[in-house]
Order: sequence, then structure tokens, then C-alpha cells
Amino acid sequence: MLTLALSKGRIFEETAPVLAKAGIRPLEDPEQSRKLIIPTSNPEVQIIIVRASDVPTYVQFGAADFGVAGQDVLLEKGSDGLYIPIDLGIARCRMAVAVKNGFDYAAAVRQGSRLRVATKYVNCAREHFANKGVHIDTIHLYGSMELAPLVGLADAIVDLVSTGNTLRANNLVEVESITDISARLIVNQASFKRKRAQLQKILSVWQP
Ligand code: AMP
Repeated sequence: MLTLALSKGRIFEETAPVLAKAGIRPLEDPEQSRKLIIPTSNPEVQIIIVRASDVPTYVQFGAADFGVAGQDVLLEKGSDGLYIPIDLGIARCRMAVAVKNGFDYAAAVRQGSRLRVATKYVNCAREHFANKGVHIDTIHLYGSMELAPLVGLADAIVDLVSTGNTLRANNLVEVESITDISARLIVNQASFKRKRAQLQKILSVWQP
């Protein structure tokens, strides 16, 4: 049996059509079902539905043999014990710094001001600002980061931006792009050795 860890939403939706090419069709829709273990049309493959930020943990510990995780999560949490063979090129976006419209970010950086940065990506934010020589205090949030500068909780946020619509809708502007993000296939290193033939058959649908 092979266990694949996926998160609901964009990753599941963009992974399912590729899995179908390998003859793997989930027997239930995770958006409709409350089941967390979803059998597939291939009796040798099951899908577990976990939070996006938990996908690497399940794969690292071998509770899942492989999974699909955003590069954002891998950068933030590290990728020890993972084999990351393929950039799937799905769920594309960028990690960026944004501030409230009218906040003079360039001047704040120039003057060496200490910035309050709200983010889910505390490690990525620390590294980015340390490389720029900017001192920050991080405020760890779990969602709706866009709200923080609007209500005075933070000067800036570090978040994912795709179309930019969410920033615009909240009167925020992107001031720096940190890195491009896409989803990666991640494989447990021990599974890759022990179940190589089984895995290779599925992974081949992603290979160019
Ligand atoms: P957008 O309005 O298209 O720029 O999307 C921004 C919102 O969607 C933010 O709340 C992001 O955290 C979230 N988002 C954008 N792209 C992704 C992605 N690839 N994975 C997860 N969340 C994303």
C-alpha cells in the first residue's frame, strides 16, 4: 500500500488530474466527505487529507510515503528526511512583503527602523530581513495576515501573493518579492528505497 498526503483545495484540485493519468482516482471528494483517509480506484494507493503545513511532517515520519507540499511550507519547516524529486509547477505564487498603501517602506528601511512583521512564515521572514540588515519583530499569525497592517498590529506582512487581488481588496501594496513558490512532490526517503518500483510507476506521470 502507498499512502499519499495531500491538502484540500488548490493542491488536491491540481494534483487529481495528474493522478488520473496514472489511473488513480479518489473514490470520494475531500471537499464533500469528512473522511480523512480516502481510498482510490487503485487498491494499492490511498490518500490522506491533512493541513498543507502538516504534509511534510506526515511524509518525514513515514506516515505517508509521498505527498504534495508547497515550497513555502518546505522553506518554513525545512525538509529533513525528504526526497524532493519533482517541482510540479502547480499552485504557483510568490512569497512577498506587503504594507498598507501609503506606508513608506523604502524610507523605513533606509532609516533603519525596526519593523513589526506579521506572518505565518516566521523563519522565512527572519531570514529575508536579516539578509537585508533590517531589524524586525515577528508576530506569528495563522491566517488573514492582510488584516494586521490595517488595524495597526504590524507594519508589514510576509504572505503568498498570486493575482494580487487580496492585497488590492485590502488597500495593501506589495513592496518586495521574496521568492517564487510552487508545489513539490516530496517522498519519504525510506519509502523511496523500499517501495521504489511502486512509487516510480506513479511518479513517472509527473516526469517530463
Ligand atoms: P491572490 O488574491 O490571488 O493574490 O491570493 C492571495 C491569497 O491566497 C493569500 O491569502 C494567500 O495566502 C493565498 N494564496 C495564494 N497563492 C497560494 C498558494 N499557492 N498556496 C496557498 N495559498 C495561496
